[in-house]
Amino acid sequence: MASRILQKGTNRITQGYKVTHKGVDLGRVHAIGEPIIAHSAGVVTLVQTGQKNNKGSKGTASYGNFVKVDHGDGYETLYAHLASVNVKKGQAVSRGEMLGTMGNTGNSYGIHLHFEVRRDGVRVDPTPYLEADLPITERIDVRYRAYSGRRWLPWVQNCGAGASGYAGVFGQATSALQVRPERGTVEYRVHQLGGDWLPWVTSQKSWAGVRGKAIDALQMRLTDLPDYTICYRVTSLKTADWHQWCEGTADPTGDGYAGVLGYAIDGVQIEIVKAGA
Ligand SMILES: [Zn+2]
Repeated sequence: MASRILQKGTNRITQGYKVTHKGVDLGRVHAIGEPIIAHSAGVVTLVQTGQKNNKGSKGTASYGNFVKVDHGDGYETLYAHLASVNVKKGQAVSRGEMLGTMGNTGNSYGIHLHFEVRRDGVRVDPTPYLEADLPITERIDVRYRAYSGRRWLPWVQNCGAGASGYAGVFGQATSALQVRPERGTVEYRVHQLGGDWLPWVTSQKSWAGVRGKAIDALQMRLTDLPDYTICYRVTSLKTADWHQWCEGTADPTGDGYAGVLGYAIDGVQIEIVKAGA
């Protein structure tokens, strides 16, 4: 099995997890500069750079140059004693993406990687995960809401059964949509009934549509979470049932969309799932 945190070679534990050492150390001969990669997709939440070797140091300084990644579901990973760091705080990373290189910074007595896994802020034994997935769900929560009947309807999360499992009111045209994923960026745009496609908007700001003007098609894509896919579907006035699911594509020329031109959309469902799940 390939290592989930070393780009080359295999995991060789030189110091295991115990009460006094809540991580694992992976050492390799002549390993300075070995690429260190993200265990799983996530967002970089902490970066420390500019550190030199500092034997006997404590606290954050003891980690030297390090990167911490949040994977959702309460799981984080930390990569310490790096020689160099390739990522910035707030950056989304995919599984296997290079975070930095192995080094000897901080409280370190030789070139190695100190790797930690945290669950809800508590360090747990990383050994089971050196070559395996974290026990996280295969979904990123996404909240969204529709503008319908002259008001924004309540936010809904993911798709599910019943009135809370979709955005919109059946039988009533939706005119705008707002999308907020738990992490990552969704780009989306809507097509106005009898009109044209409106510009793409991102989930960090604004919404798509013009309040009060019905939309008949929707197009969505994820831009920075390559391990995930955004799935979406709509119902239209007069057609009454859900149309087929569409999968977002990062390809800006992709022409797949949800909806039927000429029929106003009344309901919308959105889900972000692990690609291939
Ligand atoms: Zn260590």
